Amino acid sequence: MLTPELTKIELELRAYILATILLQGTGPGLEAMMAAIKDPSQARVRAGLRSLERKKWIVRQPNSKEILAAYPLSIKPTEHAVTLSAGYHVFAVCAIDALGVPLTFSQDAQIHSLCKSCHSDIAIEISEGEIKRRQPEGLRVLYTPLKTSTCPVSYHCPTISFFCSSAHINEGFLNTPAQPVNVFLTLAQAFQLARHIFGAQPVEAMGDQPFDGRTAQLLLGLAFPPGNKRER
Ligand SMILES: [Zn+2]
Repeated sequence: MLTPELTKIELELRAYILATILLQGTGPGLEAMMAAIKDPSQARVRAGLRSLERKKWIVRQPNSKEILAAYPLSIKPTEHAVTLSAGYHVFAVCAIDALGVPLTFSQDAQIHSLCKSCHSDIAIEISEGEIKRRQPEGLRVLYTPLKTSTCPVSYHCPTISFFCSSAHINEGFLNTPAQPVNVFLTLAQAFQLARHIFGAQPVEAMGDQPFDGRTAQLLLGLAFPPGNKRER
């Protein structure tokens, strides 16, 4: 798996979209994005969004072009809830994305999810870029590198899930027509994969780019405004 390279405008748009989801729980509109990246060309911003979509970093509603997800974050609630050390509650698209949230924002995080099979609680604590705690101990990640066109995202897919043990990944989850290739990952392997996808382009690395005040504050890892924290 390779993380596609992003251009400057794509990196700026991605960071602004992620910051908006984190701070406001929703995706930004076109006008806000044009203002944030200080590019008055609607055509250039639209092209940047199209290419982020093509490179699988964002998902948009096909007709309205409303942003639905910006990897690793989902605007719609999912079973993968992540609380960052700054107090923000977000949802990740899939299990690998959940592990990618602390890497994306360079913060510690608590991940709460459910076993896809028995719905038992899954809890993971990531601190200083390392897995500090996990519950249960033998949890696994079912990774499905989809090659079909049935899924809008080929390598970050909602079917990538946590399981409380390898015994709970039963036949029902394996090798269905929609999921032709499945890989069983330990938590350490899944985190390594998340690091490969999300660690290469952490949002914090965008700190020297021209953003509006709030986004810059976020990107630079400064204190967050307390008023914008969402209750779960
Ligand atoms: Zn289970």
